[in-house]
Order: sequence, then C-alpha cells, then structure tokens
Amino acid sequence: MAKSIGIDLGTTNSCVATIEGDKPVVITNAEGKRTLPSVVAFTKDGERLVGEPAVRQAVMNADRTFASVKRHMGSDWRASIDGKDFTPQEISAMILRKLKNDARDYLDDEKLVDAVITVPAYFNDMQRQATKDAGRIAGLNVLRIINEPTAAALAYGLDNEMQQKVMVYDLGGGTFDVSIIDISEGVIEVMSTSGNNHLGGDDFDECIANHVAQVCKSDYKFDVKSDPEAWARVLDAAEKAKIELSAAKKAEINLPFLSQTGNNGGPINLVCEITVEDFNKMIAPLIEQTAEPVEQALYDAGIAASELDQVLLVGGSTRIPAVAAKVKELTGKDPSSSINPDECVAQGAAIQANTLSNAANSLAVRGGEILLLDVCPLSLAIETVGGVATRLIERNTTLPTTYSQIFTTAAAFQTKVEIKVLQGERPMAADNKMIGNFMLTGIKRAPAGVPQIEVTFDIDANGIMNVKAKDLGTGKEQSITIENDQRMSDAEIEAAIRDAETYAEQDKARKQNWEDYAEAQSLLSQVDTAIAKKGKTMDKTEKKNIKAQANVLRNYLRKKQDKLTDGDRVNIKDSAAKLKEMASSIIED
Ligand code: AMP
Repeated sequence: MAKSIGIDLGTTNSCVATIEGDKPVVITNAEGKRTLPSVVAFTKDGERLVGEPAVRQAVMNADRTFASVKRHMGSDWRASIDGKDFTPQEISAMILRKLKNDARDYLDDEKLVDAVITVPAYFNDMQRQATKDAGRIAGLNVLRIINEPTAAALAYGLDNEMQQKVMVYDLGGGTFDVSIIDISEGVIEVMSTSGNNHLGGDDFDECIANHVAQVCKSDYKFDVKSDPEAWARVLDAAEKAKIELSAAKKAEINLPFLSQTGNNGGPINLVCEITVEDFNKMIAPLIEQTAEPVEQALYDAGIAASELDQVLLVGGSTRIPAVAAKVKELTGKDPSSSINPDECVAQGAAIQANTLSNAANSLAVRGGEILLLDVCPLSLAIETVGGVATRLIERNTTLPTTYSQIFTTAAAFQTKVEIKVLQGERPMAADNKMIGNFMLTGIKRAPAGVPQIEVTFDIDANGIMNVKAKDLGTGKEQSITIENDQRMSDAEIEAAIRDAETYAEQDKARKQNWEDYAEAQSLLSQVDTAIAKKGKTMDKTEKKNIKAQANVLRNYLRKKQDKLTDGDRVNIKDSAAKLKEMASSIIED
C-alpha cells in the first residue's frame, strides 16, 4: 500500500500525520515533539534552522529568523538574506521538507512523497496555489489542498455519520477561524467561514507578559520591554504559565537574573504568581472577540446555533477551559475535544491523503472515497457598464464550481472588450480588488447589444481559478489563470469583508443612483429612437410635449454622474418618470 502523509502547515505550529492500520497517527519529529514551530532561521554561518532550534536563537538573530510566514502566503513579501530573496513558498517549503524528512525517518520510506496539505477555508486561490507550490518545492507530490475545518471533521470520522451541521472553532497561536460545515452521505461541504487573522494564543501570552512587565516596573523600576532578550524570556515564561493554567489553578513565573539593571544596579530575580481567575479576567475581552465571527459564520450559513449538531474544538488555544466555556455559551453545545486540538487537522489530512493515494494507485478501490467540497472566500465578479461589479460567483459558494453568463457590447461596432475580474463584496467595481484582466479581441463588428460574449468562471477543488471569455459569434476565446501577484492577501480579504459591511448602506444608495442614471439614459435613447421611427404618424402636440420633456431630462443628464448633487438626482428621477409616462404608448413595443 502506498504511504502518504497529511500536513497541517500552521501559522504558529505545523504537524504531520500518517495512517497506520486504519488509524491516523501523529509523527514524532527528530526532536521528540509532535508539533513543529513554523519558524525558519538563517544563521550567520550559512546554516538553515527549522522549528525548535530556530525558535531558540530567534532573539539573538531576529532579522534572520522568520515566523508566521503563512500570513504572507501568496503575497509579494520576501525574506531577504545575504542578497537573496526568499518567497513565502520557499520558506514554507523548508518547514515542509523537515516534516517530510521526519515522516520518511519514521516510516522508514526514503521515497515517500504523497501528501495532502491543509489551508484555512478562507484562503484564496493565490494562497492555495502558493501552498501547493511550497509542497512542490519541498519535493512533495501534493495530492490535494484541503480546508482545515474539513480535515478536522474527517479526523472525527464525521464523514461516516448521518447528515449534520458542524461548527469548527479553531483558535491557534495567532489566528482564529470558524467554519460551518455540512456533512451528508460522505460529502463534506464548507458552508461558511469567518474569523480574525490576528487573534490567538500569542495575545494571551502577551497579556500575562504585560502583567509581568508591570510587576517588574513597580518592584524594580525596570522596563523589561526595552531589553529584547529579557522580554523574550518573559514571553516564553508567560506561554508556559498559560499552558499550566489550562490544568492548574495557579502558575508561578520565575525568572532569575532577568536583568542586571534592577534597583541599585543589582540583578532582577523576578518571581510572580498568577491565578486562573486573574488570567481569565485578562483574556476575557480577547475571547469575547471570537463571538462576532461565530455569529457571522452562522448567519452566512443561514442557520441558528440551535441547528448545529456538533461543535469541534481545533487549535492549541482551545485547551484553555475559559475558551471552551465561551464556545459553549455561544453555541449552547458542549464542544468536542476528544482528539488533540493541535493534531486533529493533520490527522484528517492524513486520512484524505490515504484515500487519495490509494485511489490513485488502484482503480479497484473506489469505496470510501470522500468528496470534499470547499467554499469560495469572496464573491467574484466582472466589471460591466457604469463601473458596476456584476457577480458571477457569490461568496461562500461551494467549490469546485463553474458559472457562465452572456454579456454584450456597450458601444456600436466594438471589436474588443476588456474583462476585468474582481474579488470582493462591494457593488461597484472600483471598490473591489481587480485580480486579473485580459482583452478579448476579434469580436464581429455589430451594433451595440448584438454580440454575445460568454464569460465563464471556473474554480477547481483546490480553489484555483480560470476565467474564459468567448465570442459566440466567431468562436474566438481568451482565458487566464490569474497571476499570483495580482490576487488578494488574506488581510485584504478580511478588509474587503469588513469594508463591505461598513459601506453596505452607502453602497446601496450609490448603486441605486447609478441605476437611476443608466435607466434614464436608456429611456432617453428609446424615446429618441421611437420618435425617429414613428414621429411622422404621431399627434403633433403629443410629439412636441414628449420632445420637450426628453430635452428636460437630456439637460439633467449632461452633468457627469459623479458630479451630481442630491437635487440633480431627484430631478433626473422625476423627469424620467414623467417622460416614461408620457411616452409609454410609443415605446411599449
Ligand atoms: P496551534 O497553532 O494550534 O498549534 O496552537 C498554538 C497555540 O496554542 C500556542 O499559542 C500555544 O501556546 C497554545 N497552547 C498549546 N497548548 C495549550 C494549552 N494546554 N493551554 C493553552 N494554550 C495552549
């Protein structure tokens, strides 16, 4: 049987698992640990360190040490070392290579290459592609990129269960993700996803560390944050205390010789105690911040918390009892955490890798194949007349997906059109991110509105997108797979969703204004055409009155759309309504 691995390539920690017997097992690495810090360092003498050794030297070598590179995946961020630039894919590949080597040692298989790698459900196509590239750079054969919540559901064996709706609450070291998934007859579908890309265990560590800094200041008049090495020791001790507090009522922080610059120039031997009550108070506002994304995800999935069948806890920070209690308060359910929350994503990936690699190696094995359906993180649109973003694929649409729509030309004898592909939630094109554009040329000369141009958006199971435009008259077509550096970063995605919410009302009004203006223009051209056609047979007075009213409207429309005042808009609307009524008999057909 082919061996394969599942990799959770995390922001803070990564984890690799495989299948033994028919059970997923987490692979212990060369350092004896089950998870690997996602940290890479370049020492001054040319060595590359990955994981614990990189963490250990981070303070002394801060500008050559890279953590949380996952946040930059798919962006043009670069790590610059000795005149060479490394992409996020290349740095991530160093982590993946270490995991692969640990797995090869554990499985005693020098040829092992097949892997499934997980990504957050909201990762866009560029970020997925970058993750796949990282795998390839690490010498892996990436069987599939799957969503982290989907992997968690697989680890819990939920694909074998009856139809159900599940919330996956994932609070790691630096990120919070919440997803609602629907499971039915072996099909796992991510219905919605939300989160906060800058919230996690690191913030809890900082709460404790800030408390320690205060103690240090009041007892020793020493600003520990001014000394990077001392501050790193405080942060490290804070994390240890935090972890202790998940199982104990209090924890002691003991930092001998924290500095030599205490009162009277003596050493600072800092000792302080922290109770679970103190800790819970400190982190309460941070935990509360997870409530809104939870509500958003439920809202986007169109369900109430009471309709959830299960809630799964994922990510190391969900081991904190106060976090689990908050989840219970938000959902009304006792969340499941029977699988180690920092390992279950890798376990699910291993299950999927095993299924896929066996299916690839044996045509006979078809049973047990799990269909994984993911969602598109933001709506996808093209720009159409008037700068409007016309959506082809809505946010949270299940992947893979294909959608085609017929468009036409706006000007007479137009032989080319520019297809601008947009990602975002705002109704006007300019407020969204243009993630790609191309020209379709060679369209048959024809009056406006005659050519039929079919635009197709196609997104595959890995979330990678292809856009095609085809002139149905000539059969000419043009397509793109969107360039990496043009797509949105995760931060931009979050900002786009936040923006859309903030500007929803304003946008609605603006869109309405554009529509009123475009409608008035179209009415005017219909009236002009009708008069040109039927003018001779029309009643003279009626014709005169309609023409006069058409001129009133024409005058109002002389002003450019973006220069209109509120009064102009009312005038346009009123005079268009009047003209429509007056000319209804001639423009009806
Ligand atoms: P992950 O990214 O899922 O590996 O989660 C890493 C985060 O979980 C880090 O901030 C860890 O400090 C935190 N963590 C791990 N174990 C515990 C624990 N027992 N209690 C509280 N936090 C934990």
